[in-house]
Amino acid sequence: MTSILDELKKGRWPSFVKELEKTGDERIVKYYEKCLKDKKPYFGHGGIVGVTGYEAGVIGRVAVGEAAKILPEFHLFRILPPAGYFYTTDVLRKICDWVDKWGCKLLNFHGATYNLQAFGIPRDKLDPAFEELAKIGFDLGGSGPDVRTAACCMGPALCEWALIDTLDIYTTLMKEYIFDIHRPRFPYKFKIKISGCPNDCTASGARSDLAVIGIWRDDIKIDEDALKKYKDEELEMVAKRCPSGAITYKNGKFEINNDACTRCMYCINVLHDALKPGDDRGASILIGARARGRYGAFLAWVLVPFMKLEPPYKELKELIDKILDWWDEHGNPKERVGETIYRIGFGKFLKDIGIEPKPQMVYRPRSNPFWKYF
Ligand code: SF4
Ligand code: SF4
Repeated sequence: MTSILDELKKGRWPSFVKELEKTGDERIVKYYEKCLKDKKPYFGHGGIVGVTGYEAGVIGRVAVGEAAKILPEFHLFRILPPAGYFYTTDVLRKICDWVDKWGCKLLNFHGATYNLQAFGIPRDKLDPAFEELAKIGFDLGGSGPDVRTAACCMGPALCEWALIDTLDIYTTLMKEYIFDIHRPRFPYKFKIKISGCPNDCTASGARSDLAVIGIWRDDIKIDEDALKKYKDEELEMVAKRCPSGAITYKNGKFEINNDACTRCMYCINVLHDALKPGDDRGASILIGARARGRYGAFLAWVLVPFMKLEPPYKELKELIDKILDWWDEHGNPKERVGETIYRIGFGKFLKDIGIEPKPQMVYRPRSNPFWKYF
């Protein structure tokens, strides 16, 4: 009978089994094959495993049962990545040499934890491995109930739509909260994501406890000459598909009611030669998303419709501090901040952190007969 691993090596696409074999460590391949055959993983949590002085950033993996005879331990390092995941080739070579020396030669670039992860570092090598990593210029990322490693889009480095400097905000926040990243003290994890515009390439509105999304508050800029180059059908389609009905296209005249626009970016993405975001730029701050949990999946709620974001981002940091203090005080164990707000009430949360209720916070405002704003 063909082994399961042989099956996983077939096909035109890259095979992770081939990558496991390239490590030259037969124990990893055998362990993985056993998990597949028995249809279960054998790694339990490794208890307190970490580098001296840190309480987060190293995930202990210790095998149990018979698998412990094959691969007793397989700890992994979470490494705080640079903003936007920009690495120089020189640094990448140094990291590869580092994981070849201390780990099992496997790296994982930025999964759902947003960290660069290095696998298979033995317990007695954790401290010297970390010391060498620090010399390359890297620190550990978050794990457990702490402020987690944040994520940001590439923003102004490569994208014409960036309305805020996502890279600078990421770097500033990671430096500001580095103590809380390395020392878990909160009810559960707290993830921050920063997207440069409402296209939200980091999926912050669905996958972060605190979403910072670039936005503008003045009018969409229209280049009438460029607009004439689009066909009637295209302009009609955009007007029809505008989610808030803010666009009209009649008798060859294309108009936007900016008071009704929800800044979704759809028209700008499609008619990109003619439409541009306004010049009065900042960010919307949203809170409370998570993919699954005790109350089901949550999308984020608007907390601050518009905040000017300029270095040193004092207002944003003060807001995050207030949220963390409130959640630290009211959150139950394993409760994300959105769940704490849901259990206690958004009204009390707003009052406690000193934010006035705003129409943009209302869930589905356009289908709620008691609210009307524009
Ligand atoms: Fe560009 Fe906006 Fe995507 Fe960031 S979120 S990469 S600014 S389109
Ligand atoms: Fe409509 Fe979105 Fe364009 Fe605003 S940004 S006018 S809501 S399509």
